Amino acid sequence: MKQFQFTYQNQKQLRNELIKIRQWEKSRITSSIVFCVFSETLDKKILNTICDTIQTELPDALYMGSSSNGNIINGHVETDIVIICTIMEYPSTKAELIQMPLNAENAVQTVQKLSEYIKERPWVKAVEMLVTIRGLSMTGFCEELGKLPVHISIFGGGAFSSDMNNEACIFSKNGEYSTAAVVFLLIGGEDFYVTTMHVTGWKPLGKKFLVTRSEGSILYELDGKPAYDVYYKYLNIRNDSHFFTNTLEFPFFYEHHGMNILRAPVASNPDGSLVMTSDVDENVIARMAYGDPWTILERIRLSGQEIQKFHPEAIRVYSCAARRTFWGMDEISKETLPFQSIAPTSGFYTSGEFLRTGRFVNQHNVTLVVIGFREGMPDENDVTNFEMHEEQFSGKVSMINRLATFIEAATEELEEANQKLEYMAVSDGLTQLYNRRETERRIKEQIHHHKKHPEQPFCLIMLDIDNFKQVNDTYGHKEGDNVIIGLSGLLKDGIQKYNIDACAGRWGGEEFMVLMPYPLEYVIETAEKIRKDFEAIEFKNNVGHRTISVGVTALLPDEDSDAICIRVDKALYQAKESGKNRVIIL
Ligand code: GH3
Ligand code: MG
Ligand code: MG
Repeated sequence: MKQFQFTYQNQKQLRNELIKIRQWEKSRITSSIVFCVFSETLDKKILNTICDTIQTELPDALYMGSSSNGNIINGHVETDIVIICTIMEYPSTKAELIQMPLNAENAVQTVQKLSEYIKERPWVKAVEMLVTIRGLSMTGFCEELGKLPVHISIFGGGAFSSDMNNEACIFSKNGEYSTAAVVFLLIGGEDFYVTTMHVTGWKPLGKKFLVTRSEGSILYELDGKPAYDVYYKYLNIRNDSHFFTNTLEFPFFYEHHGMNILRAPVASNPDGSLVMTSDVDENVIARMAYGDPWTILERIRLSGQEIQKFHPEAIRVYSCAARRTFWGMDEISKETLPFQSIAPTSGFYTSGEFLRTGRFVNQHNVTLVVIGFREGMPDENDVTNFEMHEEQFSGKVSMINRLATFIEAATEELEEANQKLEYMAVSDGLTQLYNRRETERRIKEQIHHHKKHPEQPFCLIMLDIDNFKQVNDTYGHKEGDNVIIGLSGLLKDGIQKYNIDACAGRWGGEEFMVLMPYPLEYVIETAEKIRKDFEAIEFKNNVGHRTISVGVTALLPDEDSDAICIRVDKALYQAKESGKNRVIIL
């Protein structure tokens, strides 16, 4: 594999470059030539001229192109137009182009057609695509791509423009200049190899938000509140003309198909909803992530070391336009230049980066998708030295990184403390059962549920230790506590463990309530079993065997919680009145 990379200046210069390529190619065995044209300008006339010139000078070569938000050539950012010519040198390597129209209605069928095409081409190992996505939901498109045979690498970039406008175009040898289309480059053959990875460098911050409402790429609510509130409340980002650049440092981060995906807001609406860079799932946990130059470069270094092992002969980068805005023109190349020390690196700044990971094809944002290409087996003697200037690191950790670590640790501590508080608020200290308040709340909740599902039974068991005062008076309060703990242990191990929907609470001093969403006959059996099991316990220090009285009742239609509690209390009272140590059903 051999690459020629150059910027386009004018037609004469282009022709000269093409002639050079033709000369080079003449004396060698090659299989196919693929030109990629990445252009900040959408000027149809210029782009058509470039295509025509390639067609004239190298009639067998393939070409495809896309408008962009800036280009990457030899590892650094370049405005205007760049041309990347890749020459495959192994006779077994094959490449083909397919261009198809793309819109909201046909996105899935388009991929299905691609799939049919690929079925007849078992040599395909990679699908590289250039696609106009602005304003389109790509979810269905990506899902359909995920159905392609799993050994096929899929990657690509969303066409864009220098002013980040909605307008974008793609074109190829297989189709016209179009503002609503996709071009797929199929590459493969037995000596062709490809590896892919994605790098963000953005790291999540502690606080979690639940996406309670989103439709496509509009994120309406987080934790039931307008999504914009989060940016204002936690980051003091105002809804003004700087919103896009300010939020760029803090996009959302969430797990999708088991991997971490970034989504940045591009604008906020008057109702507090946010227009995101692409679709956001509902009911996922999202966190804000922060972009920090040092952390990002550290990730770039690790990725460079990783891709070096593959010994790529060429590297393609699809990087988010947001990253270019984040770094600024002077610094953006810091991210891509390191790759150039491994192999010629080219690509463009996109409106969305596509990458297959396992079975799933994801549309990323704020991400760098990196692809390594190679023909044949690597030459082990050819040790490319991955270079990244160490002075950029020098062991220095940025302020934001330290603060983020602080926030992370503090959030974790708070979450732990909150969990403890939540537990304490609902449980009883001595028995670790639910407390009275929580038990009452749960009875009400169960009755509410029963109203919707009247076919499901609901019963209560109320228990009270017999002659308990005597235990206290004779053996002391501590021994009394032990008896209470003995009964609560039985409620946990004897009931909750075997009846997944049952729960027990401490109702008063030595009085307990068990919620049983089971049929009455079964509940009576259970109550009787507990009575017997409790009686069988021999308490230490001469306390010996004790007994309990038990009331049982089932919820009647249209009854409220007060009514059933009064009745079960009455049943317990009757059990006491009629001699204790028994179960009474009312
Ligand atoms: P009965 O058979 O009618 O239920 O008689 P009893 O003695 O069990 O009932 P009574 O209501 O007269 O006495 C309950 C006693 O339980 C009174 C109270 O001091 C004691 N008690 C309440 N909470 C605790 C506790 O947490 N630990 C101990 N050891 N005793 C408690
Ligand atoms: Mg008692
Ligand atoms: Mg009592």
